Amino acid sequence: MLLAFLSLRIAAAIGQRKKPAYEQGMQALALYLHWPFCLSKCPYCDFNSHVRARIPEARFVAALRRELAFEAARLGRRRVTSVFFGGGTPSLMQPESVAALLADAARLFDLAADAEITLEANPTSIEAGRFRGYREAGVNRVSIGVQSFDDAALRFLGREHSAAQARAAIELARQIFPRLSFDLIYALPEQTLPQWQAELDTALGLTADHLSLYQLTIEQETKFATLHGRGDFALPDADTAAAMYEATAEAAARHGLAQYEISNYARPGAESRHNLAYWRYLDYAGIGPGAHGRLSFGDALIATSRHRAPEIWADMVEETGSGSTLEAAISPQDRAREALLMGLRLSEGILYARFAERCGMRLADAVDGEVLQQALAEDYLRETETHLIATEEGRKRLDALLPELAR
Ligand code: SF4
Repeated sequence: MLLAFLSLRIAAAIGQRKKPAYEQGMQALALYLHWPFCLSKCPYCDFNSHVRARIPEARFVAALRRELAFEAARLGRRRVTSVFFGGGTPSLMQPESVAALLADAARLFDLAADAEITLEANPTSIEAGRFRGYREAGVNRVSIGVQSFDDAALRFLGREHSAAQARAAIELARQIFPRLSFDLIYALPEQTLPQWQAELDTALGLTADHLSLYQLTIEQETKFATLHGRGDFALPDADTAAAMYEATAEAAARHGLAQYEISNYARPGAESRHNLAYWRYLDYAGIGPGAHGRLSFGDALIATSRHRAPEIWADMVEETGSGSTLEAAISPQDRAREALLMGLRLSEGILYARFAERCGMRLADAVDGEVLQQALAEDYLRETETHLIATEEGRKRLDALLPELAR
């Protein structure tokens, strides 16, 4: 009932809208599709991922296709510049399922000829065996969950693959996909700085055009939270972790990969266009269990989210066309907070003009003036004519800085 009411309100907003500048042929949409299943649950992972004895692929692909059509019906033929299959482990999907979803995206939206189409993959041999099929389906970028090139570390992280399989998957992906990224996790228990530097050298020698390098953090309600809480392992101290972070940026820079976001490194032009849409606070549609969206309808910006439990989500889609649990207009203040939170993660910072257009207020009016001046004086933030940028020191302190900065 609530959803029907909100849908009417949104439909009314669409009917009344005057087109803002960013919609006059420019407003693009990033499309996210969530595959919620994994072979096993990694002990550090707090993503919406689930293990099932048998993955009900046909049912979930049908539900994703139905929810995609549902969302397209109200969005219209918006230009889609990126599609991202995330998870969970989308490389557990058959290539035919990926092909069907991409065909739907091309039919329902104005899918750009040069759209970035990414699929997250794990490097087990079964999944790597599907790479050619994904390429034929239209995937042009693969993001591989390598996590480590050390077998003992992979066992600690609960991964299903070996270091040799990770190297083989990267090698194969390089032959098949125009673009390749992989993830590593560092600051593992007892890992030393020289060990991490050696692993980085391996990674950077494998010539991916993009790397995501994450520090291990203990997330609530994970197996690691329990093990860490009872003292089964300890993480490196803060100084060691900070040294690893700094060494990461330096080594990446030596190999021509710039740090364009706190944990992401790319050759010029190889940045993840899809993830940039999140960090630049642009429109994105989230399809599938637990997926979130930010969608503009005229001057309104709507937050969407879907039910997290896969089977309940699928039941809802089968009944109503959507597993939506939230459709709420975001106030200008909340937009400003979100745009600051995302944008200051980027090395490029926040473009004032885009901020004003997306948030309905100037950046200068969205922040506490005194905190801003102090952060500028302490060199945590810097201003250019067009951007507000967090410095390297500032990016390390964003968690503390942001609640103070945003009004
Ligand atoms: S494979 Fe990825 S999504 Fe699945 S449990 Fe492991 S880290 Fe989480």
